[in-house]
Amino acid sequence: MHDDVVWANDRPDIPQTRPVDVAPDFAVGGPDVVLMAGPCSVETYEQTRLVAQEIARLGGRVLRGGAFKPRTSPYSFQGLGVEGLQILRAVADEFGLLTVTEALGVEQLSAVAEYSDIIQIGSRNMQHYPLLWAVGELAKPVLLKRGFMATIDEWLKAADHVASRGNKRIILCERGIRTFETATRNTLDVNAIAVVKQTTPFPIVADPSHGTGRADLVLAAARAAVAAGADGLLVEFHHNPVEALSDAEQALPLASLPRFQSEVAAITRAMGRHLI
Ligand code: PEP
Ligand code: MN
Repeated sequence: MHDDVVWANDRPDIPQTRPVDVAPDFAVGGPDVVLMAGPCSVETYEQTRLVAQEIARLGGRVLRGGAFKPRTSPYSFQGLGVEGLQILRAVADEFGLLTVTEALGVEQLSAVAEYSDIIQIGSRNMQHYPLLWAVGELAKPVLLKRGFMATIDEWLKAADHVASRGNKRIILCERGIRTFETATRNTLDVNAIAVVKQTTPFPIVADPSHGTGRADLVLAAARAAVAAGADGLLVEFHHNPVEALSDAEQALPLASLPRFQSEVAAITRAMGRHLI
């Protein structure tokens, strides 16, 4: 062992994470680790309601679901648009949940801000500066995903673009980067979680669903992210993954949510935190 190693946890120069308030009784980046769960896409009212009901039953607080989808192929399901936002809001309200959903462009921002509690900026849009400036002018929390080809420095500068317009309620999201590896869709950069913790006051959540692209790896990646210091997880669940209209391979079955929650909670407790 080297005596000169300085553990990050002991260093006085490490910035304190500044919690981002989402609701009067709920923040990201505080003592609790937050699980944000839900389908990749809002497909139907019933499908979204099933996930919301289960999250609420297990004491979860945040429902995710895309209404505007950034799909690689223009022939794939593109999302329900405003109808999807309305479904997400309606089922979240029924069960007292908060929501996170993506705005693909500036033109959708006011609708997304009207219906959702957190505005997601997707990986493909991390350097879409007019969109960053526009969310920077809003009074809503922003979940800023890392571009899958972006360095940590580029990602943090993207966060600065948002903050420079006034909105400091930024939650970073590590969602995997493109590497030479082909066994997984992306490589979840666990290093980045520790780097962000050491260098910025922003809370950081991890997305092990996009980070792996494989349902069988999501739990392991989620546990690793929490162990590295993540303040939350964004995870895709579907009541019938084989029928999911987007990201079917990485969706966890809704029936596995209780087990997923308890397996992650064990790591959370080891970190001296609680999973909510
Ligand atoms: C998503 O969260 O469903 C999504 C499209 O994520 P990303 O922008 O990370 O690909
Ligand atoms: Mn997805």
